[in-house]
Amino acid sequence: MYNYYISAGSNQGDSRAYIEEALASLQKDLAIEVKSIASMIETRPWGYTKQANFLNTLWIIQSKLGPELMLAKLQALENEAGRARNIHWGPRTLDLDIVYALKEGKELVYGSDDLIVPHPYFWDRLFVLEPLAELVPYFTYKGQLISERIEALQKELGHGNTDEKENT
Ligand code: ADP
Ligand code: MG
Repeated sequence: MYNYYISAGSNQGDSRAYIEEALASLQKDLAIEVKSIASMIETRPWGYTKQANFLNTLWIIQSKLGPELMLAKLQALENEAGRARNIHWGPRTLDLDIVYALKEGKELVYGSDDLIVPHPYFWDRLFVLEPLAELVPYFTYKGQLISERIEALQKELGHGNTDEKENT
């Protein structure tokens, strides 16, 4: 059994509707059980910053499906939302990422040409960590408590210039 931590984001069209429709599809999926749903938050764009603010949230879902099959399901939902892939980190109707996963209760580490888990940037992104902290307040990664990580990232942002920051 797997637990997948799914980060959802949108900054194009009716963002709330795209995110809610994707969640409804997951809730209807017999192969998936949606366990927890974080609040939606509005966030500033990360990476490519000359675009509209995002709505973000995070869901924890449980399934017997392995990571590649789960990614395929998420990509099908992105396609249903009419997502066009153009600018990397650019505007999108729906982005669904597997940011973290557990397999039989233990951290899943997985890498292939089209899927890396944990997501290489999840621990750097407040729009992932804030909803995650709401659901799992004592989440720890690499020995650090999520609340401490969030505080450190907020401090970094407070030092300004984040709009021009290179993210890779
Ligand atoms: P991003 O989410 O970084 O803005 P995209 O959504 O455009 O980028 O995804 C680009 C590719 O990232 C996808 O085609 C997918 O194969 C790959 N990918 C790698 N790791 C993951 C992951 N953990 N979750 C979702 N997609 C991933
Ligand atoms: Mg993505």
